[in-house]
Amino acid sequence: MFESIQPAPADPILGLTEAFKADPNPQKINLGVGVYQDSTGKTPALSCVRKAGELLARSDAGSSYLPIPGLAEYTSAVQQLAFGSAHEVVTSGRAFSAQTPGGTGALRVVGDFLAANMPGTTLWVTDPTWANHANIFSAAGVSLAKFPYFDKANNSLALADMLDALQKIPAGDAVLLHGCCHNPTGVDPTQEQWEKIADVLYAQQLLPVLDFAYQGFGDGIDEDAVGLRTVARQGEEFILCSSFSKNFGLYNQRVGAATFVATDAERANVVGSQVKRAIRANYSNPPAHGARLVAAVLGDDDLRSEWHTELTAMRNRINGMRSLLVDKLAEKSVPGDYSFIKAQRGMFSFSGLTKEQVLALRERHAIYIVDSGRINVAGITESNVDRLTEAIADVVG
Ligand code: PMP
Repeated sequence: MFESIQPAPADPILGLTEAFKADPNPQKINLGVGVYQDSTGKTPALSCVRKAGELLARSDAGSSYLPIPGLAEYTSAVQQLAFGSAHEVVTSGRAFSAQTPGGTGALRVVGDFLAANMPGTTLWVTDPTWANHANIFSAAGVSLAKFPYFDKANNSLALADMLDALQKIPAGDAVLLHGCCHNPTGVDPTQEQWEKIADVLYAQQLLPVLDFAYQGFGDGIDEDAVGLRTVARQGEEFILCSSFSKNFGLYNQRVGAATFVATDAERANVVGSQVKRAIRANYSNPPAHGARLVAAVLGDDDLRSEWHTELTAMRNRINGMRSLLVDKLAEKSVPGDYSFIKAQRGMFSFSGLTKEQVLALRERHAIYIVDSGRINVAGITESNVDRLTEAIADVVG
């Protein structure tokens, strides 16, 4: 039976981690996979999350199944965090949220929902986008197409080309945008640009799908929600996919949510019934612990304020490393202007390094970067930045 099965190609990013682990060089640097690291290169659990875990351990929350859409305290907290508690989307009840196994799970639920309920819908993604988007949606049977997003020459948003392309997408298709901290480019629209994008999306009758995996990693919790709050116009429909892997450091707990915003509460219920059907046929119902942790932190004033402090520290460290990297590259007279790295937001930066330079960094310096030149800025520390910039000078010069 299995004789004729061919090996699947290795996942390019996770494969890089394997290669990094196998490298005996003690000075190796991993700037590949998107996991936050502190100034010592570790990914510790957040203190607010550890405290929430202790509180949970002292009470018995039970171990029966959660409902199909997950824990109600959690999904309600997810909506309030994304939109703000007084937002019309939240108060009107026209949003249906389901807790999902991570942001990946949320995207897959959206894919299954589109395939089952809106067959023939093409999902349009930014060029480039997170590599797993294509895997997730094609596995769900949704066809994909790309629209321009990144202006390589200027390391900025290709707004005019993007709006032009969006204007040509047939009504009824879906458009996947990154809520903030675009992966892999680090380039986000400004609020004004979001307004223009939303104008075109709704004029063309397109369904926005917002992938929101890095709230708080760019400029702040509310600042990073500007895009989705701009898209969240009265009476308009859209989908939001949330992830708490990064901003709560809950990578291995798989905590996410898919929120379907309909025109009114009645419609949201109908949509919700189909979302539940998709989930039932996939993983039946979500795991409880991670969502309980997030709900416990967000539901307690002290823990929530501690979370704000810890998230701010992560964000400041990343943005600080952006500046340090740019300054060190200038100090070492590396040819080229890298100042755009400071303006990018989130965990990633499109460094502009070519595939050949990326390979040379790996082979000559044991520095691991994704082939596209995407750097995980959180992998840079005060103690490896000199070695990193000297190596870049070597391969670029
Ligand atoms: N969307 C984007 C853009 C991401 O970068 C990631 C994580 N790499 C996800 C979704 C999925 O996150 P999770 O780990 O919660 O599944």
